Amino acid sequence: MLLRHTLPEVKERKALTINPAKTCQPIGAMYAALGIHGCLPHSHGSQGCCAYHRSALTRHYKEPVMAATSSFTEGSSVFGGQSNLIQAINNIFTIYEPDIIAVHTTCLSETIGDDVDQIVAKAKDDGKIPEGKYVIHASTPSYQGSHVTGYANMLKGIVKGFAQKSDIPREQLNIIPAWVEPADMREIKRIANMLGVKFVMFPDTSDVLDAPQTGKHVMYPEGGTTIAELESCGDSSYTLALGEWCTQAAAQDLDRKCKVGYDMLDVPIGIKATDRFIMSLSRHGKVEVPALITAERGRVVDIVTDMEQYLHGKTVALWGDPDTLIPLVEFLVDLEMKPKYIVSGTPGKKFKQKLEELLKDAVPDAKIANGPQADMYLMHQWIKNEKVDLLIGNTYGKYIARDEDIPFLRMGFPILDRIGHSYFPTVGYTGAMRILEKILGLFMDRQDRDAPEESFELVM
Ligand code: SF4
Repeated sequence: MLLRHTLPEVKERKALTINPAKTCQPIGAMYAALGIHGCLPHSHGSQGCCAYHRSALTRHYKEPVMAATSSFTEGSSVFGGQSNLIQAINNIFTIYEPDIIAVHTTCLSETIGDDVDQIVAKAKDDGKIPEGKYVIHASTPSYQGSHVTGYANMLKGIVKGFAQKSDIPREQLNIIPAWVEPADMREIKRIANMLGVKFVMFPDTSDVLDAPQTGKHVMYPEGGTTIAELESCGDSSYTLALGEWCTQAAAQDLDRKCKVGYDMLDVPIGIKATDRFIMSLSRHGKVEVPALITAERGRVVDIVTDMEQYLHGKTVALWGDPDTLIPLVEFLVDLEMKPKYIVSGTPGKKFKQKLEELLKDAVPDAKIANGPQADMYLMHQWIKNEKVDLLIGNTYGKYIARDEDIPFLRMGFPILDRIGHSYFPTVGYTGAMRILEKILGLFMDRQDRDAPEESFELVM
């Protein structure tokens, strides 16, 4: 028993988190910044924060993640980090030659009250930012929100730093994805290209965090949204924001700054959410949905029809980020499964409301919690009281899966002990097929393992 101390009796906790279902804000800011071409994330704080954040991303993506740090010492912690940051900006542009430095703060620099806006303005006045180079920034105190909040805050920094309105409107859409895998970003682009829509997508971590092995290290891989693309997003006709927690604030800022209206959509996970994304692309891009897309949808529906008997009534416990959990729960309900326990360490009132609405007929007694005390300990307590048939979440669920002997589908961030998540999409109809394949594989493996000899089936 790895989690032998989990007690089944659930007591209300107000100020204690045990095994959080979230991680640091700056990790999200780093991930969003890596989706900009030629961008070096910079952590304005101590070296330890930066090392942890980089290693969390490196372990998940199995790629070397570069980021710089202001390297706070005792002196900067007391007197402020202005001189460290200005010197860092100078060093980074001189030695590592990025096009953009994306600065995010940490608990320490936030607590001492460093004004990064003012420091960056001073660096510019002092001539430390070369012509044609940029420094953007985001405030990411980790004692609030989660990695999701950090991602959202860096997207706001990107809009603030680059979006411009010129006199020439463009027949293009902006697509702003929530924190999804590089493969998901590639899939979103593939779908938009299949429809023939012109678009700018930011951020875009495909070909950055799933870059091919060429035998040569490059500091700034091929992928990522370019500066020209970012600057053009203020002239786009409309924005499709995918995932409220991660993208709504940036879409709102873009609307305020450049008068580009937006559609607030779910991340296209599952059939219905993908339908909504495709219909929005079709409507705002003024294009027809091609037959090839309809055929992809038909293939998912076919798998569901063929395999429904393995899915019906199966109970599920899920943890992760609101933007991916909400459409995933919707998909599971469509598969006639029963999402019974759901936790997210990311706060936000709408999480519970939205899920209760989705589950009101299918699982009226579902247990849903989010925020700091909605942690993996609580999830384990619920499971100890009444077991489920399937777990879906990040790697940290493997302890519960082992102790309680429950099939486990790894999905979300971080995944530290498997590969594939960054290469195979879970969005779109193709992604829905992959989710289905994985769930069905787990249930069938379990059936094979547990079946008595007389009912051990060759054909399933
Ligand atoms: S919680 Fe704060 S201090 Fe700790 S690693 Fe994250 S940013 Fe750094």
